[in-house]
Amino acid sequence: MTTHSFPESWPSSVPADLLQLAEEVERDIQEKLRRVDQIARKNFYRVIRSFHQEGIKEFHLHGTAGYGLFDAGREALDRVWARAFAAEKALVRLQLVSGTHAMACAVLGNLKPGDQLLVPDEPYETLQKVFLSLPPQGITVTRYDADRVRESLPVSRETTMIFLQRSRGYRWSADSSGRPLSLSVQDLRHLIGDVREKNPEAVIVVDNCYGEFVEEEEPLEAGADLIAGSLIKNPGGGIAPTGGYVAGKAELVTKASERLTAPGIGSEIGATLDCPRSFFQGLFLSPFLVGEALKGGIFASLFFQRLGFEVSPGWDDHRTDLILAVKLGAREKLLAFSRGIQMAGAVDSQVTPVPSSIAGYDDEIVMAGGTFIQGASLELSCDAPLRPPFVASLQGGLFFPHTILGCLYAASQLRKV
Ligand SMILES: *Cc1c(COP(=O)(O)O)cnc(C)c1O
Repeated sequence: MTTHSFPESWPSSVPADLLQLAEEVERDIQEKLRRVDQIARKNFYRVIRSFHQEGIKEFHLHGTAGYGLFDAGREALDRVWARAFAAEKALVRLQLVSGTHAMACAVLGNLKPGDQLLVPDEPYETLQKVFLSLPPQGITVTRYDADRVRESLPVSRETTMIFLQRSRGYRWSADSSGRPLSLSVQDLRHLIGDVREKNPEAVIVVDNCYGEFVEEEEPLEAGADLIAGSLIKNPGGGIAPTGGYVAGKAELVTKASERLTAPGIGSEIGATLDCPRSFFQGLFLSPFLVGEALKGGIFASLFFQRLGFEVSPGWDDHRTDLILAVKLGAREKLLAFSRGIQMAGAVDSQVTPVPSSIAGYDDEIVMAGGTFIQGASLELSCDAPLRPPFVASLQGGLFFPHTILGCLYAASQLRKV
């Protein structure tokens, strides 16, 4: 069960005391790992039942070219997805190029001039520019304090849409009262209940990135109207090569689809090329692989805590997303950590991650992850903006042992600075 299962005298560059620590940590989190297995199993049954209910057949797995008219596979995938996420309708498309794009279609497709949108003061970096594009189109954007979202959301009768982020993103600490920054499905339920008392009409959109299948329920079951996310994160199961999704109330998803393609076309066309097989199989694998990633996150949390680093969430905290923040405190340490994670990658393990600018992000970002799919973060990866307090966001790991290896390498690299 433990790191003794490494082949003889390997991983060679890892000091013996770190191997020892890894073993202890793994032993101490057993109870928690069992709970993760239970959740993964429930979610797996939920997904496979959706396949059965929709009668998925071999021919659904083949893609179309050109317009993609009458693409039965695409339509079946949308229906399976809708069931798995408790949605009236879903839009799962390779033409949604990223999570940001899916989110933008969900939001922009459902707003018009004169509308009022509430957004977090610190949304995920790539969404900043999406929200900044709205005021010139006559949409009022009001920011709320994301750290106090549970106490005060400035909702009024005039609010048209509220945007909530389930995952913590790159934010570091817990809020002032010590509660975690991510919003669990239970948090969302309370929050949405409060909102509905003040304004029953407002459309509630949840950024579900990194949240899919982490808990037993999804945000739509907690009363949200629309969710969106990326297929190179949780729900693509590590094998979807690209894509995003939007799911929720039928009419809102239709509007999002018309933003993606064109009014009158919506979700009716869109070639699926070679993707359907990996989209279906990715969804099928996702609950289990999200469980593996979660186990890795729990392990990493206790491992780095025992090494003296501040981590968030703690290993025993309730989880609603896959991100583990490790506060490294110095640029050089952050780079060393990233090097170690990269060394564990199956691909490009010999490469040294260097900070660079990336579209949509303000600060320089360092990204590590020898992933099979570029930027895929259900695979073991970490990224961090190069700014104090130099926090690495560690996520993914398609298999728990891979994350253990990443942690061992990262800790070994940290010893050298
Ligand atoms: C990753 C992420 C996004 C954006 O997704 P991309 O695919 O990187 O565009 C948005 N919100 C959150 C919380 C994310 O984690």
